[in-house]
Amino acid sequence: MAIERTLSIIKPDATRRNLTGRIVAMLEEGGLRVVAQKRIHMTPAQAGAFYAVHKERPFYQELVEQMSAEPVVVQVLEGEDAIARNREIMGATNPADAAEGTIRKSFALSIGENSVHGSDGPDTAKTEIGFFFSQCEIVG
Ligand code: ADP
Ligand code: MG
Repeated sequence: MAIERTLSIIKPDATRRNLTGRIVAMLEEGGLRVVAQKRIHMTPAQAGAFYAVHKERPFYQELVEQMSAEPVVVQVLEGEDAIARNREIMGATNPADAAEGTIRKSFALSIGENSVHGSDGPDTAKTEIGFFFSQCEIVG
């Protein structure tokens, strides 16, 4: 295991329902440290670029619309095995498949509006952190 950083997003369905603090508490209780955080409102172009890897998928347009419709909270999380640990705390993409006690089991509305994003590997974590944060905005 190693100390890693990962990119997390608290999605519009969660910021709208005032769940930011409860989600941050679950991440912290799970052993992750918030080393950068800001609330932003993405343009459709920004959300489209962030999710470009999914641009051929049938849900892409809906995803981009949802992610740019309302504010999100973007975060850098740090900790032991942070990338995999965050995915565990988040739970499965589809809340119907998510384990008890996970963020998505607790809060997600649907497979699309599933409350949080988390990087899925070291390369994407690096790219996604750089998409939102400059080096001097991350304070470990
Ligand atoms: P994850 O966020 O768990 O890494 P993916 O990378 O596969 O999942 O998908 C990115 C996001 O796209 C999901 O979090 C969800 O918001 C949306 N999404 C994925 N699959 C579907 C689907 N079948 N229908 C609608 N939205 C979806
Ligand atoms: Mg993903």
